[in-house]
Amino acid sequence: MAAALIDGRAAAEALRARLAITADFFKATTGRPAGLATVLVGEDPASGVYVRSKGKATREAGMESFSHQLPADTREADLLALVEKLNRDEQVDGILVQLPLPEQIDAARVIDAIDPAKDVDGFHVVNAGRLAVGADALVPCTPLGCLHLLKSHLGNLSGADAVVIGRSNIVGKPMAMLLLGESATVTIAHSRTGDLPALCRRADILVAAVGRPEMVRGDWIKPGATVIDVGINRVPAGEGKAKLVGDVAFDEAREVAGAITPVPGGVGPMTIAMLLRNTLVAAHRRAGLAVPEDL
Ligand code: NAD
Repeated sequence: MAAALIDGRAAAEALRARLAITADFFKATTGRPAGLATVLVGEDPASGVYVRSKGKATREAGMESFSHQLPADTREADLLALVEKLNRDEQVDGILVQLPLPEQIDAARVIDAIDPAKDVDGFHVVNAGRLAVGADALVPCTPLGCLHLLKSHLGNLSGADAVVIGRSNIVGKPMAMLLLGESATVTIAHSRTGDLPALCRRADILVAAVGRPEMVRGDWIKPGATVIDVGINRVPAGEGKAKLVGDVAFDEAREVAGAITPVPGGVGPMTIAMLLRNTLVAAHRRAGLAVPEDL
């Protein structure tokens, strides 16, 4: 039997509807909308698309969007000065500096400069540390979206064997921490892992965050497993066109898995929804309000 599809678009839409209600409530309580500042340096077309869609989603959820566009030759000191200004701005609850940054700018230094209370991407070491020790953190949006999909589909993850392929600070590592927080037994695989197919075959939950088109084959998957495909890879589709595929060979995997996220329409839509969620969480904490439980 073909695997169930985990519909990230529908889940994101439902979440965004709930977030809009919370955003209204926040505005009514505090007298101001929650605010997200986005910073884009340079003209990278993909980054431009991401930042504009984040701004649009923010406004649609009833929050304020402040967008800052800087030229590609911006000096690091000038970007740091903008981050400092946004740190002090009372209207700004979340700060998102779109990566990658031009090479004259040290991204780690910029992330370090963001007030951890406004770090809605969850990339600051303070938030990574808080996640690691199980304290309240702002958690990176993509793995948070993956966890939301997993819990909605499976309920309790306690005791499940989980394999995360990829150890980036943005996806793999925080994903592993979140799964550990749910009491799954977690293995992190990466480019130096030996016999990756055998490791994957043990997994009740398999999260692929690699960036290699269709690397995970159907016979790597344990029958009935839940597969979350984070990969977004652009591959040629003939006649000069391109299409998006994940890190998992979807047609093969669907024959074996119990449930699987499609690409597109799986993890991707959840990422922006979680950015809105993190902005609202940051806004509530900064205003001294309790964070609603269903966020
Ligand atoms: P990254 O390049 O920072 O990390 C990739 C990881 O894969 C590394 O840890 C590396 O060790 C591992 N890896 C590479 N080759 C491997 C191999 N042959 N076997 C096992 N592991 C291997 O990438 P990232 O930022 O973590 O992103 C991963 C993928 O997820 C990319 O396709 C990216 O586009 C996608 N992504 C999607 C979203 C979303 O919203 N859906 C968000 C972020 C990233």
